[in-house]
Amino acid sequence: MAEPPAPGGPTEEDWAAAVAAVRSLPAGGRVLLICHVNPDGDALGSMLGFGLGLRRLGVRQLQATFPGPPEVPEPFRALPGLDLLVPAAQAIADPDLVLCFDAASESRLGDLVDRLDRAPAIVLDHHASNTRFGGIHLVDPAAAATSVVAERLLTRLGVPLDQEIAECLYVALATDTGSFRFDMTTPAVHEMAARLLATGIRPGEISRRIFDTRPFGAIRLYGEVLSRTTLDPAAAGGHGMVWTYATQDDLARHGQRPYVLEPLIDSVRCAAEADVSCVVKQTGTREWAVSMRSKGAVDVSRVAVALGGGGHRLAAGFTGRGTAHEVAAAIRDELDTALIDPEVPGQAGV
Ligand code: 5GP
Ligand code: MN
Repeated sequence: MAEPPAPGGPTEEDWAAAVAAVRSLPAGGRVLLICHVNPDGDALGSMLGFGLGLRRLGVRQLQATFPGPPEVPEPFRALPGLDLLVPAAQAIADPDLVLCFDAASESRLGDLVDRLDRAPAIVLDHHASNTRFGGIHLVDPAAAATSVVAERLLTRLGVPLDQEIAECLYVALATDTGSFRFDMTTPAVHEMAARLLATGIRPGEISRRIFDTRPFGAIRLYGEVLSRTTLDPAAAGGHGMVWTYATQDDLARHGQRPYVLEPLIDSVRCAAEADVSCVVKQTGTREWAVSMRSKGAVDVSRVAVALGGGGHRLAAGFTGRGTAHEVAAAIRDELDTALIDPEVPGQAGV
């Protein structure tokens, strides 16, 4: 039985169009899977899990890729399906079908965006801000992760879950729900987790690998970066902002890769005195990747959009320019004019 469509989610026609697009692939048809730049657990997990499902359906000409440096963060280097990955520069130029995972807009796809014009494109996503840049949209803002949408499409295609697919989808679900802690963690999320666990995957081992393992140097680096965390209680109309920054020099001094900084926001956002938290991570000369979280009073996606980025209400980001302090000042200015809802409780969710 088909589920009723979630408000704002895919319609029966959208699902039917997606299924038909996959089923009508010619024999030997080439499929390209794309996820967003700097892929996280949901981007990689939903893309690779779905790719493994297509492989089970007999699709042989299959590649997965993402824009930017072709480096998979260490926590995800044991994911099943990694053999599908190719660097963006080697991605099929003229695929017969494109599927795009966890990207809210074309800007997250870098140079790979040209593939969307060359073939039918199915967009699987859960960002409310999705700009609907493909041909077929499976975008469900009520879904806790893109992997929820990916599992639904696999089911409609008649692909049974196996351990490899399940591990990918589980990593995606666990990362985007903050290990099943955020408000998006509905009964349906736990039901999906139960289906995935029923394949026999090991949640303890997976969680240790993706959340609880990091190089010793990263721990020392965290100490330094956290020690310069700043609290501004007056920001956001008195809801407060807490923030810190990490430079490329910090990374080099501790011999660390940029992706080790991703979990830092989860330590910074614990500060009880602030609704808004930010980590400003240097990516180039006067260029920074900014992660923002809110506990519910501020819609940080609006702040991110105003500064050229995007995301969800409680978890968003953008590329900042200038010095780290200039980037923080720009955020503070936006927070002064942001819509603040003191009634809304919540925690971050990506
Ligand atoms: P994170 O802080 O985990 O990198 O990102 C949180 C959320 O913000 C992501 O799920 C993504 O939706 C969004 N996001 C982060 N950085 C950017 C960015 O540079 N541009 C856009 N459009 N969205 C971003
Ligand atoms: Mn996601």
